[in-house]
Amino acid sequence: MTGHEIRQKFLDFFAARNHRVVRSSSLVPGNDPTLLFTNAGMNQFKDVFTGLEQRDYSRATTAQKCVRAGGKHNDLENVGYTRRHHTFFEMMGNFSFGDYFKTDAIDFAWDLVTNGYGLPKDRLYVTVFREDDEAEELWQKVAGVPKDRIFRLDEKDNFWQMGETGPCGPCSEIHFDLGEHTAAPGREHEKFPDDGGGRFVEIWNLVFMQFDRDLSGKFTPLPRPSIDTGMGLERVAAIMQGKLSNFECDLLYSIVEEAGNLLGKSVGEDTRTDTVLRICADHARATAFLINDGVLPSNEGRGYVLRKIMRRAMRNARMIGSGDPFLYKLTGFVADFMKGPYPDMLESVQRVARVVKDEEHRYATTFQVAEKVFHDEARSAAGGVLPGPAAFKLYDTYGMALDEQEEMARELGLSIDVAGYEDAMQKQRERARASWKGAEKAQIAPIYQELLGGGRTQFLGYETLEHGASQV
Ligand code: ATP
Ligand code: MG
Ligand code: MG
Ligand code: MG
Repeated sequence: MTGHEIRQKFLDFFAARNHRVVRSSSLVPGNDPTLLFTNAGMNQFKDVFTGLEQRDYSRATTAQKCVRAGGKHNDLENVGYTRRHHTFFEMMGNFSFGDYFKTDAIDFAWDLVTNGYGLPKDRLYVTVFREDDEAEELWQKVAGVPKDRIFRLDEKDNFWQMGETGPCGPCSEIHFDLGEHTAAPGREHEKFPDDGGGRFVEIWNLVFMQFDRDLSGKFTPLPRPSIDTGMGLERVAAIMQGKLSNFECDLLYSIVEEAGNLLGKSVGEDTRTDTVLRICADHARATAFLINDGVLPSNEGRGYVLRKIMRRAMRNARMIGSGDPFLYKLTGFVADFMKGPYPDMLESVQRVARVVKDEEHRYATTFQVAEKVFHDEARSAAGGVLPGPAAFKLYDTYGMALDEQEEMARELGLSIDVAGYEDAMQKQRERARASWKGAEKAQIAPIYQELLGGGRTQFLGYETLEHGASQV
């Protein structure tokens, strides 16, 4: 089955079970200013779950566009290095708003995974929340999963809450065993659950929303418990297509190959090149979809994260020797590949290309200077540590964010004196505050005040958004 077919099968399966097929919402959350980007299928239904909003259906299913970069869930630095994390991905979901609960949620998921998608039962494992006896029983009774394939995990992995207060509940995840030979070297005999060995892939998370948590931390059972699930489309596609990595499934692979064409490299040449091609493919998807949804590269908030994603792709491409604009072509390729399920991608293709090309030109001029300064500093870094003041100068004068520097440093086997960086930042803040006070008194030109403020907003905007993020 192709990725497009797997997506459609999911929606059809739930439509046949009385779920309303609802369009993916925008990557820019419409109803939650505290959330950076839509990062789960449930986001657009948040108010329906809390009862603030009514719909004329109580069951829904979606293929939701998600971005997990910046904010509470940040997979940006994982991309290219793990086999299963993207910045942009599609989360398939089925939702019950006070309609069915655990029994049906488990029955549906197991039926689709084992019969619909045909995944072999002896490669599947299930997790439940430590205290959720009911779920453990249902997986055995309804799905016939043997007890020794069900694992109890704690809050970190298997308890979900929308925020500090509000709806919450235990969750249950389905994992797929890729096989012993796929584990990281030395970890072949690790048993489930594992983290990082790479042998087990989490494919589907079922959230059983059953409590309301108040400010004091007390849990009150919800009168009408609900269901929220999320299945990673690219992960399931990779598994069904017999691939170990998401980047080898058809939804990603042609984009990886196209990145190679554009950069004059072929897949499989060497591992460094392959990592770069994966990064470019992933980031081209995020870039195309984010700009399509109205985000523009800028120095604050969402635009800042988009800029960071784009620059990470451009910087990586440069590292394998390609400084020419290429990303705008790759985003066009993405639009064409995704035009079936997302026809609006084709309508915005020219606009997206223009925005991306502009950013590539801007990068070529300004960032190259910063990069050169970074390498000069790196060359003279004593003991493999880039001094804090140098890192701060790179940020403050050359606009290179600390995490960008950290990644570049990692690639060179260096580290950064972060405490020194923060110290320099603090001193700068104090200086700015002092001179700001002076400026107020002297009524100095507004343009100067703007400049003074402008330098700071870059990161404050981002931190502000990130702070309130309260999603899955
Ligand atoms: P992981 O532990 O692998 O990071 P998660 O527990 O953070 O995943 P959930 O929040 O439970 O993920 O999201 C539901 C599903 O969405 C996951 O089971 C997975 O299949 C998929 N998913 C989550 N994050 C990503 C990502 N960055 N790229 C691709 N798929 C993802
Ligand atoms: Mg995660
Ligand atoms: Mg997880
Ligand atoms: Mg999960």
